[in-house]
Amino acid sequence: MTTSPARVPAVSEASGGRPRVVIIGSGFGGLFAAQALRTAPVDVTLVAKTSHHLFQPLLYQVATGILSEGEIAPATREILRRQKNARVLLGEVTDIDLTARTVTSQVLGRTTVHPYDELIVAAGAGQSYFGNDRFAEFAPGMKSIDDALELRGRIFGAFELAELAETQEEVDRLMTFVVVGAGPTGVEMAGQIAELAHRTLRKDFRRIDPTTSRVVLLDAAPKILPSFGEKLGGRARRQLNDIGVEVQLGAMVTDVDADGIEIKDADGQVRRINAATKIWAAGVQASGLGRILGEQSGAGVDRAGRISVQPDLTLPGHPEVHVVGDMMALDRLPGVAQVAIQGGRYAAESIRRRFAGKAPQAPFRYSDKGSMATISRFHAVVDLGTLKFEGFIAWLLWLALHLFYIVGFKSRITTVLHWLVSFMGRGRSQRVATQQQVYGRLALEQLGPEFEASKTGGPKTVPDGEDLTGRESA
Ligand SMILES: Cc1cc2nc3c(=O)[nH]c(=O)nc-3n(C[C@H](O)[C@H](O)[C@H](O)COP(=O)(O)OP(=O)(O)OC[C@H]3O[C@@H](n4cnc5c(N)ncnc54)[C@H](O)[C@@H]3O)c2cc1C
Repeated sequence: MTTSPARVPAVSEASGGRPRVVIIGSGFGGLFAAQALRTAPVDVTLVAKTSHHLFQPLLYQVATGILSEGEIAPATREILRRQKNARVLLGEVTDIDLTARTVTSQVLGRTTVHPYDELIVAAGAGQSYFGNDRFAEFAPGMKSIDDALELRGRIFGAFELAELAETQEEVDRLMTFVVVGAGPTGVEMAGQIAELAHRTLRKDFRRIDPTTSRVVLLDAAPKILPSFGEKLGGRARRQLNDIGVEVQLGAMVTDVDADGIEIKDADGQVRRINAATKIWAAGVQASGLGRILGEQSGAGVDRAGRISVQPDLTLPGHPEVHVVGDMMALDRLPGVAQVAIQGGRYAAESIRRRFAGKAPQAPFRYSDKGSMATISRFHAVVDLGTLKFEGFIAWLLWLALHLFYIVGFKSRITTVLHWLVSFMGRGRSQRVATQQQVYGRLALEQLGPEFEASKTGGPKTVPDGEDLTGRESA
């Protein structure tokens, strides 16, 4: 394979002479790319469907009441407020035209068209139910703040309803929690629910005993944390058992409904677990923008929706279009934050070099800094390649690293305080759950497209670049 040739792109007249870089997504790939262009002589427009940057690795702590959503989701606008060459726009990108070099985004019926000279696509991935999207109604995934808050409401709400339940059967169903998917997210989630039930809520109820809750971690694969290897996976499994999590492997989910989950075991036996709360942490599907890009560029798109990129992270025949993070397929790289961060920075450097007339970089090479997952309070597993360890030191390293990547001084301080409350004490500072959080998603789905249309004052299409303050754009 070859890298795309260096090229000085045509600069759009409307940009005041500076090349326009449009970035789709404010996650790890998009945000780090924008920041890496801080001193570049370009105008950066970052378009994302949420107004925040989300630190996904700590979503499970929002779902289990340890952290507040603000701590892991600072406003992108605030992060980039001092970066004069960058502006942040809210909008869901619905189309990309590689020939016209435009990106179209929509918010509340307002359509905006953003012309670009260089494009970085970092729209990430969503949950995959492997073709069984009907499961989503009963087993929410964990990809967004909305998901985490809905799960928080469902988890804490299950205990509330159990306190009111009239039969033991109902209590058992309400106090059974099933997590599907034994990768890092599922393991962390199951561990935290177990600690919540067995430690935090121990004395909070009068009729039920939360310590009798059942937490089940299921996976169709034969081992947990497969990317951590046999030894660390085995230790993680023992630690989960110690804190009261039942690990069931070779267990394929065949159906999910409001009251439980149906499973087919490796020996072909079909069984059911009655459980009010089911959490889906089992698969990802890249943003649908990958398919749009694939159709126009001829680049391959795999079953998980990831688009095959050139070794320099661009699309074939389109050296001005860079795809990074969870959306890209290259050398079987995993969908992790470091791949997105390094990819975003690499794409930014390619753009810098092109406009400076410099030779292209060497092909993208991922520097694997290792992986880690927490199992419980004081216990984590860390895989640094040659060095693999687990236990308290691993947990401290996990805390330090996650604190380092949380954006903003204020968030770091409050995160440390909330960790102290939860890990040194027994509390959870963020137990609030509202009806909107629990029922909002399903209610909106039921209202359907007519509700979408009614939210707006009528459709509008405007070219990007209108300045409502009357200022000259930079
Ligand atoms: C629960 C969970 C736990 C995880 N834990 C870890 C971990 O411990 N360690 C680790 O390394 N990785 C972890 N990951 C994976 C890691 O978070 C991702 O690999 C990383 O976020 C990918 O970055 P990205 O920029 O490609 O996408 P994302 O960070 O997902 O960002 C995508 C961005 O695109 C925006 N967007 C999406 N579609 C559109 C659209 N159509 N229009 C406009 N904007 C759009 C989104 O709003 C978002 O801003 C975890 C992921 C999850 C979900």
